Amino acid sequence: MADPAECTIKVMCRFRPLNEAEVMRGDKYIPKFQGEDNVIIAGKPYMFDRVFQSSTTQEQVYNACAQKIVKDVLEGYNGTIFAYGQTSSGKTHTMEVSYFEIYLDKIRDLLDVSKTNLSVHEDKNRVPYVKGCTERFVCSPEEVMDTIDEGKSNRHVAVTNMNEHSSRSHSIFLINVKQENTQTEQKLSGKLYLVDLAGSEKVSKTGAEGAVLDEAKNINKSLSSLGNVISALAEGSTYIPYRDSKMTRILQDSLGGNCRTTIVICCSPSSFNEAETKSTLMFGQRAK
Ligand code: ADP
Ligand code: MG
Repeated sequence: MADPAECTIKVMCRFRPLNEAEVMRGDKYIPKFQGEDNVIIAGKPYMFDRVFQSSTTQEQVYNACAQKIVKDVLEGYNGTIFAYGQTSSGKTHTMEVSYFEIYLDKIRDLLDVSKTNLSVHEDKNRVPYVKGCTERFVCSPEEVMDTIDEGKSNRHVAVTNMNEHSSRSHSIFLINVKQENTQTEQKLSGKLYLVDLAGSEKVSKTGAEGAVLDEAKNINKSLSSLGNVISALAEGSTYIPYRDSKMTRILQDSLGGNCRTTIVICCSPSSFNEAETKSTLMFGQRAK
């Protein structure tokens, strides 16, 4: 059994390799790695539970970030894995999933496109949930992957540039695990949320108007409420501001308490993105 007293928030940091455009432009590769938990940007060290260099494989990231949480969820704990970072930093690459999304504070069901504005309700134990959201019963990893593919193909059909849109919505994939031992009749249930956050980059105030500005304000607000919740949890505060955004409300029973939370801070290694990378790393440090 997992140790319930164990530190429940883990912050990991992953750098992707330079991409072709960055190499073509002659950008410099800026991170310097020191051991397994330290990255230096412009002379300043940033410490995390783990730091993954650009050469790290998907399997190595899974083993370090997800394996333990998945095991704990099978033992009846709730857990959440977040990917945070600017657009094109490798969030989706790290999570590989999407299910329902929160866009402009509206919740869309990615398994039933007719449901475009779902609401958050509380059950009799006051646990928040998304009312009317499609649930699929799955028995095998293949069925989980098929469900993910179906959700992905429904991600904002109206928008032609997928990365453009996905960078402005949070996508949340929930796996509910229910187990029953037929001999002892003992029941166990655990939840795992996989959260692919909207891009964290700042939209410059000049130039952004109308819908784009609404989007930017909304993303900044929901990411900062997430940051506030996580740092309140990390500090052990008695008041945790879950009610400040839809996302933190939905995730309430999977964040804090004896829940398992891992945040993967995703970064570009390019000198061109140095300012964003620093602010991304600072977000991760707040959770420590
Ligand atoms: P985000 O979801 O943060 O906007 P993506 O995950 O879509 O970013 O990544 C942007 C591009 O970079 C994709 O083409 C992706 O395949 C590639 N990429 C991201 N991380 C890595 C990595 N660690 N190794 C190789 N390619 C990566
Ligand atoms: Mg993405």
